[in-house]
Amino acid sequence: MLPVQELSSVEDFKANILEAYPPKIAKKRARQIIVNKVENTEDVPVIMANTRTIPGIITMRGCAYAGCKGVVLGPTRDILQITHGPIGCGFYSWLTRRNQTRPTSDQDENYMTYAMSTDLQEDEIIFGGEKKLRAAVEEAVALFHPKAIGIFATCPVGLIGDDVHAVARAMEEKYPDINIFAFSCEGYKGVSQSAGHHVANNKVFTDVVGQDDTFSKPGEFKFNILGEYNIGGDAFEIERIVEDCGLTLHSTFSGNSTYQEFSSAHNVDLNVVMCHRSINYLAEMMDKKYGIPWFKVNFVGAEGTSKSLRKIAQFYQNDDLAKKTEAVIEREMVEVAKVRDDVKSRCEGKTAVLYVGGSRAHHYQDLLREIGVVTISAGYEFAHRDDYEGRKVMPSITVDADSRNIEELSVEADPARYKPRISAEERAKRESEGFEFADYHGMMPDMEDSTLIIDDCNHYELEELLDRFHPDLVCAGVKEKYVVQKRGIPMKQLHSYDYMGPFAGYKGAINFYKEIDRLLNCNAFKFTKAPWDTEPELSATYSYND
Ligand code: SF4
Repeated sequence: MLPVQELSSVEDFKANILEAYPPKIAKKRARQIIVNKVENTEDVPVIMANTRTIPGIITMRGCAYAGCKGVVLGPTRDILQITHGPIGCGFYSWLTRRNQTRPTSDQDENYMTYAMSTDLQEDEIIFGGEKKLRAAVEEAVALFHPKAIGIFATCPVGLIGDDVHAVARAMEEKYPDINIFAFSCEGYKGVSQSAGHHVANNKVFTDVVGQDDTFSKPGEFKFNILGEYNIGGDAFEIERIVEDCGLTLHSTFSGNSTYQEFSSAHNVDLNVVMCHRSINYLAEMMDKKYGIPWFKVNFVGAEGTSKSLRKIAQFYQNDDLAKKTEAVIEREMVEVAKVRDDVKSRCEGKTAVLYVGGSRAHHYQDLLREIGVVTISAGYEFAHRDDYEGRKVMPSITVDADSRNIEELSVEADPARYKPRISAEERAKRESEGFEFADYHGMMPDMEDSTLIIDDCNHYELEELLDRFHPDLVCAGVKEKYVVQKRGIPMKQLHSYDYMGPFAGYKGAINFYKEIDRLLNCNAFKFTKAPWDTEPELSATYSYND
């Protein structure tokens, strides 16, 4: 492995960054900016995460509504989703993440291309908007008569006290064949979009999963993927690979999925989790209520994909499945290796920083590593300590007022439908042999010593980091994109992939290698001069009309 950077240089950078803050803020940020050190293969320093952004700081984060409607529920194609709030919130969640879906015929329902909103106006903010919400549900039923309707609360709705759940109940009484449920995912509900994920998980668990005991797809080895949102077609590529292996993908939460797949998802034998942060709650709750074990996988990166396929095959303990899986890996790796080696010859030794999501900043380091690109700094926008340090720290995470704001469901085994897919003895035996269930080691143990881990990185810190360490590549979101590109540094959006994809699985790995090669070896960036380097600083004064 290539050396990352001098420890003294990183410590010095951290000290300089903190100097600019008032003492109280510096103290807090000091606990969120960590110089990594891995001991005993996975003991890492403690990081502060999932705490409020300091007012005035330009954060990279999104709101709870964005996490609930935009991330978790947004990609499902036939749950009609109504945003109760001003139109701006609705637009924010309208396909900005490039989730894709593939209805089996043009007769199938597909609502994800619509952004349905109650479009609250001043009058409703003053006199209440429940009447308008009921009218919106009536209109949606008249137009589409969907199987299910999700209602999403935004900040103004929470502030004026509209009871979205009461409206959902009343409308469901009126239309008993439609499952109508609401989410208290007001933007301010938590410190970031993470709160919205949790709200989404709870409601999907109580109101959707477990509703249909009869539907099941054919196949011997059925499983769900949790936390894969089909950005740029990622889920399509994963579907292709797992089907070739002989597995049956019952439901993807929530990329390219349907209401029926969700509502019958408890009829499978295994859950695998891609994005740990956004959906670990659902995996845990399905394990407790139905006896479905889960483990973490990663289909980002060719090596990660092979490892995950092997682990799934190993779970089922079937020789034919294992052989078929090996054959798929061997077949796919031929082209992957050819492109990887070619790209690596031009990218080896380049450096990257990643500030994205709640697993992507971890997963994408695998892809970069495969072509020799070294990650010198990474961080999450909305992760909790377990995403950084691993799930073993969960018992030591302090529950504060913001976390308490989100309902923690008390889940018990379903008296009729709890069926442990493997017995407690078998599970213990496998664990003693090294097979890990319900675990995630976190991002920091996978990163080098002296890399900088920054939670809730802000624009000031990112710009300082670019000035000091001159990374060759930045991976972040759209809010950071133009500042970075104007500095002449290639930037890849990892929330929406800009215009590309898939990046998951084998074909996705090839796409990603080629895209990073194109970015890192493109001369155009060398000619880019930041406007603020050559133009005088703009200044302005207020002008008042007397
Ligand atoms: S923070 Fe509130 S007002 Fe802003 S987009 Fe989110 S829900 Fe809407």
